Amino acid sequence: MESVKLSVSKDRWEWRGGRDKVFSVGSVKNFLRSNVDYSNNYVFKWSKWVPKKVSILVWRAQMGRIATLDALIKRNCFNGENRCVMCGDGSETADHLFCSCEVASEVWYRISRWVHIGPIYAFSLNDLLEVHEFSGLGPKAKDILKGIIMISWWCIWRARNERRFSDKHKSADSIVQDIKSLSYLWYSNRSNCRDVSWENWVSFLVM
Ligand SMILES: [Zn+2]
Repeated sequence: MESVKLSVSKDRWEWRGGRDKVFSVGSVKNFLRSNVDYSNNYVFKWSKWVPKKVSILVWRAQMGRIATLDALIKRNCFNGENRCVMCGDGSETADHLFCSCEVASEVWYRISRWVHIGPIYAFSLNDLLEVHEFSGLGPKAKDILKGIIMISWWCIWRARNERRFSDKHKSADSIVQDIKSLSYLWYSNRSNCRDVSWENWVSFLVM
């Protein structure tokens, strides 16, 4: 108590979480975050022409927050077999479904042929999200490829759900056809470059 100095002035509350002693919601946020280390977090930038539902799926998958069989078992929400329904081989994790699954590998091979780049080899989800950076394409084509990769995740996940819940089989070729048509629909309606024709799109003549 020796260090406490009392004065005759009126009592008042003082916010000590910020430098200027002024309380605000922002200063509370900064205070709460001040001890958290974000340096290892992967920062995923969304694509402007890709619908939010697709970005959200990719974002959640990248964080391991989609309902794969492996994730459900870990959370005690499923106690069956966790074999991938797409290839019948391997545990159904997000990494398997989008990277190492036989069907996904076939999709990535076909996408690389379509956009005229070398074969896509991905060992992790983050590798897939950076394919466009190392594709050797120009800025505009790079932006399109980034969106195409995201839409591919969307179409693979949709094909997985159709297979799992409706027993509808979709080949890699059919998934790629969906990717081409959906990406064209969204790019020609949502981007700043809406004059691309379907013929140029399927040949990836987008410069
Ligand atoms: Zn598989």
